[in-house]
Amino acid sequence: MTTAVTSAWRTYRSVPIIYRIAAAFVLGSALGLVVGRPATALQPLGDLFVRLLGMIIVPIVVFTLLLGARKLTPSTLGRIGGQVVALYLITTAVAIVIGLGVANLVDPGIGLEIADAEAQSAEAPSLVEVVLGIVPENPIGAMAAGDVLPTIFFTVVFGIALATLVEESEAGTAVHDGAEAIFDVAEAGAEAMFKVVWGVMEYGVVGVFALMAATFGEAGAEAILPFAKLVAALALAVGVHIGLTYLLVMQRGLMGESPTAFLAGAKDAMITALSIRSSSGTLPVTMSDAEGNFGVDEEVYGFSLPLGATINMDGTAMYQGVAAVFAANLVGETLTLGQQFTVVLTALLASVGTAGVPGSGLIMLTLVLTQLGLPLEVVGMVAGVDPILDRLRTMNNVAGDLAVTTLVAKWNGAIDYAGTVWSESADVSTVGTVDD
Ligand code: ASP
Repeated sequence: MTTAVTSAWRTYRSVPIIYRIAAAFVLGSALGLVVGRPATALQPLGDLFVRLLGMIIVPIVVFTLLLGARKLTPSTLGRIGGQVVALYLITTAVAIVIGLGVANLVDPGIGLEIADAEAQSAEAPSLVEVVLGIVPENPIGAMAAGDVLPTIFFTVVFGIALATLVEESEAGTAVHDGAEAIFDVAEAGAEAMFKVVWGVMEYGVVGVFALMAATFGEAGAEAILPFAKLVAALALAVGVHIGLTYLLVMQRGLMGESPTAFLAGAKDAMITALSIRSSSGTLPVTMSDAEGNFGVDEEVYGFSLPLGATINMDGTAMYQGVAAVFAANLVGETLTLGQQFTVVLTALLASVGTAGVPGSGLIMLTLVLTQLGLPLEVVGMVAGVDPILDRLRTMNNVAGDLAVTTLVAKWNGAIDYAGTVWSESADVSTVGTVDD
């Protein structure tokens, strides 16, 4: 008997967590549809999941961002590094704006309401207040109050300052070793928090089941459409960002290269990302595309791609825009300009500390929703469709790393064209011109 239970438990645990959550999403929704209103009695089990998510926010921001900022010292950056980081930030900001734009057009969450959750912000702040609000008057106060954006800001600044200290001081001095020790603590803290996150996600199977049963129990079958619209909105936004920003503006416009050559060169990495949902896991393929297909010098991609896998997350950041509008729809709100700007800032800064692993975009969403005063319950609800959303985000993330890497390589004369996709496309375009 015990062995049967143990082996059933093992089999259950052997299924990746996000698929178990997706199954819970489907089963919970089905239960809600079949049972109707009584299913809302499960709501407290969902609320517990929401509280657990809330619990991890501040520590995860502080620990992971300290580590993320460690790589951003003046000397590691240099000229090429500066260009890479600047382009990473600009393209990510553009991605978020596209995500918000598409979501505002589609309004994915219309038709679905969350029963008792309400937006917590009494009055939406103005644009000026948002910008001023980034800087905490008291960092500890911001952390204690769970104010995400000022916490992120302070942590990034502090992390860069620490990294600069490490670089400028000699090993063995109190300052150097003390700063390293803080990073070590942050590393251990981040690892520990990820263990907690996995525990929370384990419970998420129950939490998402309960949330979906309550949602569908309340809303009925109409609630299916919003989730389909959420996926469609992200797919559209990813298509627009890849098509316009990477292909048209960066490849065609700034590099004067054929967009199809870029797609041909980046396809292995994009397909891998689509299947494994991790930009860090895709890194070896992304690097081999940069070297083999695009002929980029290792000096450029050796820095830009590992950094990109951690700090450049266009798809993930864009998703925050789409999901924020979805969440606002769910509580019958419209995001003001100030709130949309808040999304851009929070997602942009948070992407520095977000790891390129499956599902990390969901954790980022807890930060963005908290900052906006929107219900965290939405994280549980969208978690069920995350296996699809995450694929799209990750594919976009690695395409963005390669788009920036190739552009910076071109600007710095660091591409060896022989035997690459560029030379093939150059041949094709020459032939095309002659034929014309
Ligand atoms: N899975 C994504 C990545 O690795 C991050 C996310 O959006 O969840 O890039």
